[in-house]
Amino acid sequence: MLAKWLQKVLHRRSVAAVKKRELSFTQHRIHADELSFAAEKVIKRLHNAGYQAFVVGGAVRDLLLGITPKDFDVATDATPEQIRKLFRRSRIIGRRFPIVHVMVGPETIEVTTFRGGKVSSHNELGRIMKDTSFGTLEQDAMRRDFTANALYYDPQQQVVIDFHHGVDDIRNRRLVMIGDPLARYQEDPVRMLRAARLSGKLGFTVDNNTAQPIAECASLLQREPPARLFDEVLKILFSGHAQACLRQLQTLHLNNTHPLLDALLPGAEGNDNIVALALYNTDQRLREDKSVSMGFVLAAILWPWIVKRWNKEKAAGLRGNAAMNAAIAGERVQLDKSWGVPQRYSVVMREIWMLQPLFEIRRGARPFRLLAQQRFRAAFDFMCLRAQMGEIDAEVVSWWQTFQHASEDERTQMIRSAPDQDNSTTRSRTRRRRRRVNTTKQETA
Ligand code: ATP
Ligand code: MG
Repeated sequence: MLAKWLQKVLHRRSVAAVKKRELSFTQHRIHADELSFAAEKVIKRLHNAGYQAFVVGGAVRDLLLGITPKDFDVATDATPEQIRKLFRRSRIIGRRFPIVHVMVGPETIEVTTFRGGKVSSHNELGRIMKDTSFGTLEQDAMRRDFTANALYYDPQQQVVIDFHHGVDDIRNRRLVMIGDPLARYQEDPVRMLRAARLSGKLGFTVDNNTAQPIAECASLLQREPPARLFDEVLKILFSGHAQACLRQLQTLHLNNTHPLLDALLPGAEGNDNIVALALYNTDQRLREDKSVSMGFVLAAILWPWIVKRWNKEKAAGLRGNAAMNAAIAGERVQLDKSWGVPQRYSVVMREIWMLQPLFEIRRGARPFRLLAQQRFRAAFDFMCLRAQMGEIDAEVVSWWQTFQHASEDERTQMIRSAPDQDNSTTRSRTRRRRRRVNTTKQETA
């Protein structure tokens, strides 16, 4: 109790003692030409119109770390309406806090007005429900999550403005929450996931005071809108360091809080399960600048759920194909509603899953039909993952590998001599069905 009180008082004192620090080029070494064309253009136009404007957040942090930023955010004292007037290709988004998306060529810059010191409304648990007050640069810095994310870079003056020792924390590779961490997690529980993602991705240690309240607040995530959690999970998956971020989720005690996070956790360790394998491949591909299909990765992450249900349906007597349809239909509400998987991904996932039983059928015209499917390649790659997990015989994989690249004649020949796993089960089922029909007929007679 006393320790908690002391911690709070000390924290308040450190916040009150915060002084604005301006770093010149020789101290920060960020070159203005490291900004994207769009970020530079947006800042220049805001300056020319008489407003303050800075690159803020992750981009400044990454530039100080020598990492190429993946996007640029801008903070300004212009209001959303004033920003809108300056940029023809822009729109205001965001319900809890308005943000302006400014489109320049293919790039989108997120422009936010400095947030004020006051939050318009909280719920009974302290969560911010609405936040429309605008404020000063200093107040805006207070409202950001971590000290490393509260740095402002002005490319014209070539200065970095730091209110919370963010530059020192970056140099010491520490993630430190601004203000009282407990209250900041209560205000917005997603900050806990951000702590796991940023520390995992950047290899930062999470400061003790910042890490400590997480276990206590973790259950607040259950009350977050599924779509927002899903967005954050996507950021973890797309970070290029998904496995490291998941390990941080465990270290920070964020496991057992949400089914979607739990579905991801087997991916944190080793390569002996399909989730880990898919995430390892994703990290590799992203680091090599290759494309990644999110539908495919999600299909792997949620496969253990589907396969369990699929086996149950098969045990209840349904054929591979029908059992898969039933399994997917049975899990649909969970996927769409509880986990907030958007339709653009769930469609791809379902198609990949639905094609899996068809790889077992290698007779008749079916292999040709499967090959002609738009989603064949993704489904085949998925089947290879399953084979690596021992779910499918390596012989089946090499058969399909050869079949894809064979000539028409060779394919016909392959089909004639293919082992016929699924047809044999179908035949025995047909025999069983016939027997059942005969018994019923006898009973009626
Ligand atoms: P990334 O490199 O993954 O984009 P980022 O820190 O830039 O990391 P964004 O989601 O782009 O993350 O957010 C931009 C900035 O907005 C952050 O750096 C931080 O200053 C602020 N921010 C984002 N989310 C929150 C939050 N939940 N609470 C407080 N500040 C936030
Ligand atoms: Mg960012």
